[in-house]
Amino acid sequence: MSCPLCLRQKVEQFDQDKSRHYLKCDCGLVYVPREELISEADEKKRYDSHQNSESDPGYKNYLNQIAEAMLPFLNKKEEGLDFGCGSSKIMEEILSDNGFKTRSFDLYYHPEEALLKGKYHFLILSEVIEHLRNPREILLNLKGMLHANGKIFIKTKWYPDKIHDFSQWFYKRDLTHIQFFNESSFQELSHLLELEDIQILGNDLYLFRSTIEEK
Ligand SMILES: [Zn+2]
Repeated sequence: MSCPLCLRQKVEQFDQDKSRHYLKCDCGLVYVPREELISEADEKKRYDSHQNSESDPGYKNYLNQIAEAMLPFLNKKEEGLDFGCGSSKIMEEILSDNGFKTRSFDLYYHPEEALLKGKYHFLILSEVIEHLRNPREILLNLKGMLHANGKIFIKTKWYPDKIHDFSQWFYKRDLTHIQFFNESSFQELSHLLELEDIQILGNDLYLFRSTIEEK
């Protein structure tokens, strides 16, 4: 069984609870063995149950805060894709209102495959990367959709290093969360994508971009 990010075979058991095992790769990624994942139908049911919270004003406020953190890093006329937007297209609306044309894709709610053939200056994966069944393949495909000097904004929670803290961590109790990152696995991801400048924008929000300066 190899790591879904770096494909290394060298993994150790990190934790176990009543639902599943958590393996840790040398790259730093902690992940659930793929044979222990819930079905896609059950996954969809869980997302459906989150839909109500998406019409909540608190959710819009939450997305506004993410957008505000990203806006200083966007340049005039740049266009983006909110990959894994969920049932709503609120981020698209917020950024488009700020002058950055944005489209929305979601595997379950907005599966417009044609959008995955487009090219973008920036991609947003907000609370998405921890859900991906094939993170390596999907992220490499996404990288291919970026213009030169494109940017990827990723929001996810880094896992606590100490096993005691991990065992009690609320984030792992969501059965649709199937891998967890830390600084080291983010480095691995940045090498994979050749976007080696990682900036922390605050509140679990990171910006990946190329170290090569735009002319
Ligand atoms: Zn790995």
